Amino acid sequence: MNKKYTVDEKGFYGEFGGAYVPEILYKCVHDLQDQYLPIIESEEFKREYHALLKDYVGRPSPLYYAKRMSERYGCKLYLKREDLNHTGAHKINNTVGQILMAKKMGKTRIIAETGAGQHGVATATVCALMGMKCEIFMGKTDVARQHTNVERMKMLGAEVHPVTTGNMTLSDACSEAIRDWCCHPQETFYIVGSTMGPHPYPDIVARMQSVISEEIKWQLEEKEGRSYPDYLIACVGGGSNSAGTIYHYIDDDRVKMILAEAGGHGIDTDYTAATMHCGSVGIIHGAKSLVMQTDDGQIKEAFTISAGLDYPGIGPMHAHLARSGRTNILAINDDEAIYAGYELTRMEGIIPAIESAHAVAALKKVRFNPTDVVVLTVSGRGDKDVQTYLNNKQAAKEYGEF
Ligand SMILES: *Cc1c(COP(=O)(O)O)cnc(C)c1O
Repeated sequence: MNKKYTVDEKGFYGEFGGAYVPEILYKCVHDLQDQYLPIIESEEFKREYHALLKDYVGRPSPLYYAKRMSERYGCKLYLKREDLNHTGAHKINNTVGQILMAKKMGKTRIIAETGAGQHGVATATVCALMGMKCEIFMGKTDVARQHTNVERMKMLGAEVHPVTTGNMTLSDACSEAIRDWCCHPQETFYIVGSTMGPHPYPDIVARMQSVISEEIKWQLEEKEGRSYPDYLIACVGGGSNSAGTIYHYIDDDRVKMILAEAGGHGIDTDYTAATMHCGSVGIIHGAKSLVMQTDDGQIKEAFTISAGLDYPGIGPMHAHLARSGRTNILAINDDEAIYAGYELTRMEGIIPAIESAHAVAALKKVRFNPTDVVVLTVSGRGDKDVQTYLNNKQAAKEYGEF
């Protein structure tokens, strides 16, 4: 297979990626680089990982034919239902895999960063499952606005550290987790929540999420008699659910890919999280990628209604995809996402996470042929976002009746 878009031996995707870490983490990161592929490819790991995905996470997730939405958009629309996973999103696919990896490497303490708290909950969940000590770093601002997830993490037995540096949001939580890792490199395994961080994390997370497209292949074969779609659509924060959605199709030119990033108030304003539109080359959390930064290289705050897409960087794999033109990247603004969330709810009875609603909003921006097979990943469920939807209903009305 032609490997233009996956990681090379040096940990790069084109010009992006690498492992830019402090000296003290050098050994940790290199141990992981040496061990991750042998572990992931071992029969024992595969057996344990797939058993947990099946009986604990609830996989395979359904590929659902959305009849009413298909009629509205003039295509054959299938929804990949990651919202039905245990803990309500795709993130658990990754945490289940990484905790097995941590155990194989003899680590006893787990740390993680979290923004909205979804990755924190998914990490605390697998730590409870495995009886491992769990510490979560979360910006103080997010601790206040994502209270329920903080309580869930505590109930699961995790210790939550509010981070008070910078804007006190996800980016600062990542920095603090890396600092903690530097202090306890021996016993600690850092479970990274998206396709970001130093090599090999983006590749580890993409492989853990690749179960999504592995399933889409046989599910489409079953329903459509062919294993590939014409379009794949997913939302992008750091890039993990989209990486999983496109993973097994990345070198298949028959498949067009549309990624929806968070436009916030708009890419021509200061209130945006659309890194692939607005970012420039820089180093963020251990990797060279696209970053939203000031002229003198200070990382800017990201802005979006969706806490899960609220990151001023993007994984190196996606930076490369964006720059190489392999994927079509759309910026979806807050009000467009709110409308799309209501639309899916009223048309199909599925309340999507506000993150996933960004992917749904992309449907409006593409002209499909009636025979086009479109697979859209619903990365998570919207229970956590009901208040946000209700508070912003007025803005959504502008786009149409529902
Ligand atoms: C965290 C999250 C995202 C964004 O993260 P990616 O790594 O880009 O997938 C998207 N949707 C949901 C439901 C999330 O919880």
